[in-house]
Amino acid sequence: MLLPVETNCLAVYVNLLATVASATGLRMPMETVYLDYQASAPIDPRVLSAMTEAYTRPSNASSEEHSFGWEGAARVKQARVAVADCINALPEEVIFTSGATEANNIAILGASKAAPVGRRRILISAIEHKSVSAAALATEALGFKVEVVPVTPDGLVDPAELASRLRDDVAIVSIMAVNNEVGTIQPVSELGRLVRSVGAFFHVDATQALVAVDVDMNNWGADALSLSGHKIYGPSGIGALAIGFDAPWQPQPVIYGGGQEGGLRPGTLPMPLCVGLGEACHLISIAGESERQRVAELRDHLGVLLKTTRADIEVSCSSALRHPGCLHVRLPGVSASDLLLRLQPKVAAATGSACTSGIIGPSHILLALGMTPTQANECIRFSIGRFSSYEEINFAAECVRLALQCKDIKLFKAAN
Ligand code: PMP
Repeated sequence: MLLPVETNCLAVYVNLLATVASATGLRMPMETVYLDYQASAPIDPRVLSAMTEAYTRPSNASSEEHSFGWEGAARVKQARVAVADCINALPEEVIFTSGATEANNIAILGASKAAPVGRRRILISAIEHKSVSAAALATEALGFKVEVVPVTPDGLVDPAELASRLRDDVAIVSIMAVNNEVGTIQPVSELGRLVRSVGAFFHVDATQALVAVDVDMNNWGADALSLSGHKIYGPSGIGALAIGFDAPWQPQPVIYGGGQEGGLRPGTLPMPLCVGLGEACHLISIAGESERQRVAELRDHLGVLLKTTRADIEVSCSSALRHPGCLHVRLPGVSASDLLLRLQPKVAAATGSACTSGIIGPSHILLALGMTPTQANECIRFSIGRFSSYEEINFAAECVRLALQCKDIKLFKAAN
């Protein structure tokens, strides 16, 4: 039986940690070690300061009659350029949205509304975010048929699998560039070339990609690309959708109002949030490969430490190219949610993507990789980023080691 948090061995273990910290010279972080960057990355102080400054000015970027409006419009324009530069798009191709969920919905629903009548099939990968799969399924009421392209056990869309489904009746193909749970990086350019060869509309959910790879909308052959502020050290409540001028057709509006953002995303632009997203994109552009390398070293260090604790730990999708900050592991026989509870309040990690919390059942992504529901429930995602340190990683690994020693941790009975 599980005891309430207050009475289980957690308190003992936190004390133990303090002892370990003093004995080993490990400085015990005062705060919770945050290893859930893929759920939401901490805002970069430089982004916050740009936004704070922007918030001091009242501004509706559509107010054309006075200097406040002109200034706001200039700031939004600058932010749009920074977003476009970060994904190799034109500034005029970028529209601001409230986040990636909205961007994905506008891309898929909007592109379906404008699709030629002979194109009624929509292809998505089996590991898409719900904001893609649910939006795609919503088009079935309009006469579209959604087909799910399977992935390999490493979470990759096999180009041959995709090619076998591509014909000139396909309207939209939507494939995420980097997975939010296991971190697999797709061969997007290769997939894009295939999609273009049949004249379909290619949407890429790049929400997790900006911190993981060089994002290049042109090189990828993407007609539309979604991103989100809070995954890239920017503010939450803002994202963007880029739609290429050379897309086979332009999406139609799915929400209605004023004419902002070309009528595709009407509503007053949140100028300070746009500034924040622009700054976050600018910082991603300058951080580039060196930041990714540093983060990948920390991720691998954590992997080695966890392996020392339990040799049977399996790193998911280890033979695929992966998000540098994503360490997704399976601890055979251990209930991941139980372990994460034992890690409170010292280490924040996740059993899966936060967006599916509230949806009962094992992650559809892990099932798509071929895991059983029990195996899926043994998985933890540690996600590392810009502000992570070796000290934090060492401490988190030590917490996991001690938490696994808690007597009341629930272990699965079935061997698998
Ligand atoms: N797509 C992916 C791949 C994501 O990881 C997320 C967020 N977890 C979203 C879309 C939705 O992003 P937002 O929170 O900006 O709506």
